[in-house]
Amino acid sequence: MALDSKENTNDPDTIFKTGLLAEIHTENPAPNPVTRFPPEPNGVLHLGHAKAIAINFGFAAYHGGICYLRYDDTNPANEEERYVTAIADMVKWLGFEPAMVTSSSDYFERLYEMAEELIRRDGARSSADDIMVENEIAQQRGSGKGGPRYACRHRNRPVAESLREFRAMRDGKYAPQEALLRLKQDLESGNPQMWDLTAYRVIDVDGKVEGSTRSECDRDGKWRIYPTYDFAHCLVDSLEGITHSLCTMEFELSRVSYDWLCERLGVYRPMQREYARLNLSGTVLSKRKTQALISAGHVHDWDDPRLYTLIALKRRGVPPGAILSFVNGLGVSKATTTIPIQRFEQSVRRYLERSVPRLMLILDPVPVVIENLDDEYVEMVEVPFSREDGFGVHFVPFTRTVYVDRDDFREAGSIDFFRLATGQSVGLMRVPYPVTATGFEKDPCTGLVTLIRARYDKPTDGKTFKKPKAYIHWVAECPSLNSPLKATVRTYNPLFTVDNPDSHPQGFLSVVRPHSENVYPSALVEVGLKEIIRSAPWPKSHPGHPLGGPAQETGATLAFDMPETVRFQGPRVGYFCLDRDSSDGGIVLNRIVTLKEDARK
Ligand code: ATP
Ligand code: MG
Repeated sequence: MALDSKENTNDPDTIFKTGLLAEIHTENPAPNPVTRFPPEPNGVLHLGHAKAIAINFGFAAYHGGICYLRYDDTNPANEEERYVTAIADMVKWLGFEPAMVTSSSDYFERLYEMAEELIRRDGARSSADDIMVENEIAQQRGSGKGGPRYACRHRNRPVAESLREFRAMRDGKYAPQEALLRLKQDLESGNPQMWDLTAYRVIDVDGKVEGSTRSECDRDGKWRIYPTYDFAHCLVDSLEGITHSLCTMEFELSRVSYDWLCERLGVYRPMQREYARLNLSGTVLSKRKTQALISAGHVHDWDDPRLYTLIALKRRGVPPGAILSFVNGLGVSKATTTIPIQRFEQSVRRYLERSVPRLMLILDPVPVVIENLDDEYVEMVEVPFSREDGFGVHFVPFTRTVYVDRDDFREAGSIDFFRLATGQSVGLMRVPYPVTATGFEKDPCTGLVTLIRARYDKPTDGKTFKKPKAYIHWVAECPSLNSPLKATVRTYNPLFTVDNPDSHPQGFLSVVRPHSENVYPSALVEVGLKEIIRSAPWPKSHPGHPLGGPAQETGATLAFDMPETVRFQGPRVGYFCLDRDSSDGGIVLNRIVTLKEDARK
């Protein structure tokens, strides 16, 4: 797939220098902008949120300002503490530090006062005791079909009465659905966001207080009424002194009510501007759909590497820098586009290409016994960690028994097969001389080759040797050097069989790929992995890292908290990282991406 040239630039500030965000800054060149990233703590973040994070934190930082992480917790029925923590972790993981962490609920007292003030200014009225408030409102707003609109019978009730009813609503007189506080906007407007939006509603949080995200002021269950997004968002932006309230396009029409409310209350009005969401094809992002995949057993959990939640991408080994460079490469505009997940993977691949070392990894090993070498034969072979400069080299043992990938051997040679075959020679990567296969053994039941016999073609004095047409990767048996390392390797195919699971007529669950996770239980990795583990994240070595000290010099202790930072390229098979399921007892690797897009098709 062709990538636009922007994606190749390493300038992380591209999106702030050109395009929509540059225009927004020209329009409002506040010297120290204040922005916010306002997630609702009702689920884990996904790749789309990374765009919002990069925009809000990045824009502020680029222009010398600050950004808040604000939990938009105006609906206590949906929120959970574990999501609060998970969101903060992901913001940090992407490399951003909020100037302050706040919650909409921190401002509930102030918002309540503002609501009373709005009633006094004749900008809102309570519409308590309407029967079936919700239905009635839909009708008043033209039933969603552009029908005639009409005011509710309380629209012009006296201010004193509205205030009294609003307080009664606050004090528990009404059950959910029985009463609302509604704005008095403009029913004649062409914009539905001006049709007397709801400002406050009654929510029954019984049994929801424990473990919820309520701030201290209402942890005792004090609040029975909650402001809506439409009421709270702009006013909290105002209270926090936000300069640029950057949000996604679905809020474009809301800009009018945002401005209206700030002006009606006579408070500072931040500038709201909108950008297009990041839509991905080939997967689903929404929380509800992800939950359905988990419940149906199609994926293991929220961090299953086949998902595009940020915790899943982290676990899969995608570096945060690759996510940011992907987002940056897409640019920011108002135009809705859907990006194929292959483009994301391509971006990850390009990032890893430059930044990770190489290690020989055999997914499906077959032993090759080199019969003209002694049992004790050990030749240390120098292997560079990368073709790029600055990665250094390491040594791996070459001995009488090496393992090669089943794919790299054929029982009989042919003119178009240059790897190992009976009677045919091949190079073992970095080993000075080729080996020639002389025979093999097979399991009579499975028909699989169980052992290959071979000869090391080291020429006798003075003679030259024939350069092999191909080199294959290998690892050697050498117990004294703990070679090779055993590993379980998980590789992933796309979770869906179609590009647009979201809009599939039979529903996205009907197009889940049956075998999207493949497990290689007896893969082998060369000993260089231990050095990679010690110095992860590569190539910067972290002396404070739990595996960075000399105490771990020999053993492969894998119990540490950033396994995904141990990343490498397995030549020909893909990019891999250590999975959190790894332990002293066993290495588990995830394939981050294949080396080439078509390799997995
Ligand atoms: P979802 O329903 O997909 O979980 P959301 O909009 O409900 O998303 P919020 O927690 O409300 O999620 O979002 C926090 C911020 O992230 C909002 O400013 C929202 O506009 C932004 N955001 C959410 N999804 C995307 C996306 N796909 N692309 C860009 N920004 C997004
Ligand atoms: Mg939301």
